[in-house]
Amino acid sequence: MTGPESAPLAPGATVGVLGAGQLGRMLAVAAARMGLRMVLFDPAPDPPAAHLAPVVTAAWDDERALAAFAARADVATLEFENAPLHAVETVAAHIPVRPGPRALAVAQDRVTEKRFLREAGVETAPFAAVDDAESLRAALAEIGAPAVLKTRRLGYDGKGQARIAAPEEAASALAAMKGAPAILEGWAPFARELSVIVARGADGSVACYDPGENLHENGVLRRTTVPAAVDAETSARARATARRIVEALDYVGVMGVELFHMADGRLLANEIAPRVHNTGHWTIEACAVDQFAQHLRAVCGWPLGDPVRHADAAMENLLGEEAADWVRIAREPGTALHLYGKSESRPGRKMGHLTRLSPRR
Ligand code: AMP
Repeated sequence: MTGPESAPLAPGATVGVLGAGQLGRMLAVAAARMGLRMVLFDPAPDPPAAHLAPVVTAAWDDERALAAFAARADVATLEFENAPLHAVETVAAHIPVRPGPRALAVAQDRVTEKRFLREAGVETAPFAAVDDAESLRAALAEIGAPAVLKTRRLGYDGKGQARIAAPEEAASALAAMKGAPAILEGWAPFARELSVIVARGADGSVACYDPGENLHENGVLRRTTVPAAVDAETSARARATARRIVEALDYVGVMGVELFHMADGRLLANEIAPRVHNTGHWTIEACAVDQFAQHLRAVCGWPLGDPVRHADAAMENLLGEEAADWVRIAREPGTALHLYGKSESRPGRKMGHLTRLSPRR
């Protein structure tokens, strides 16, 4: 960015956030610490961030509400990557949106995302677009089983996915897509899942946190452990991959990059999330500048903070009724407890998280 756009927004400025879930809530905490104001936009009544900052409650296609939201902010960002593109474009017609519509368009469609990654020189699992039984047959012939069929859009936390262990399972997997455009991906028998939280500033500078190692259960993140059990060369390669991605997108803000670490050492990119990320929550306690403050620094054109880690950390999500155990967790030494203020608990719903800290080894 050049010209007046590159001047940092001073404290007192207002950041608009599309989405007001727990990520918006944690962004609002960071904004308060930085002397920034915040306004959020969310269709849901009483979202988690509403306890901390004003929220415009309206549907994603409510152009007038989006314009009114934009009028209250100096810059906008998002905490929800499935915010409809036209809503983001409506806001972008009034104020800068960081990251911009392009990063969002890439991340919202798994085929576009994987094509972009390949073009940027980042390895992925083999994949092919699937629209019907014929294209699935061709994709399976090319990629082989086991594989996984996923909806191209709007999938998260393992939703909209069907494993294909053998070609006979193709028809039932396709039926599970309910007619939505899909992607077939070769199954990657990874040794571990890693993620890198990376930030790129408005001036093009890049800051990368140490890779975390993730454990998913039923497609939902259970735990992130830092440091990941990888050698220094792998860690550096993971960070270099994340840097390559944000640079290729001319990205501004924090991004979560999920990688499969294969037994032969290869790193395959699985997914990019153009926002602060669940696998970066450990940075709140383990770093001087956490991912939320870092994202706001980038969005507001401030210098990026030092991503250095001063502790080892293990972050665990509190899903559904697990959060009811808050008194016991609150007694645990060396443990930070986060609760998101959601009034309704559902099985598997992210209600909070905890981070256990230990001295850096
Ligand atoms: P996703 O929604 O793509 O992040 O997938 C959710 C989880 O499913 C990932 O974190 C992996 O644990 C697993 N998964 C997804 N795609 C693959 C793949 N191609 N090979 C192996 N595991 C996968």
